[in-house]
Amino acid sequence: MLKRKSYKDSLTLTVMKCELCKEKIDTTFLAKPVGTAFKDAKGKQHWACAACQRGKTKEELLAALK
Ligand SMILES: [Zn+2]
Repeated sequence: MLKRKSYKDSLTLTVMKCELCKEKIDTTFLAKPVGTAFKDAKGKQHWACAACQRGKTKEELLAALK
């Protein structure tokens, strides 16, 4: 019988990394990432930690990826 993956398991498999400073993004006790997700022109999702995101617009974050 197939064992269903628990919700918790699927969360731990997803390690968020800031794509600007390459640091792991911490999560709250509810497993909510302390950072921001933003999408590029192709619709690909990127993550930035709270420190890198601070004071930057989405456009500036995208520019910083390159
Ligand atoms: Zn960062």
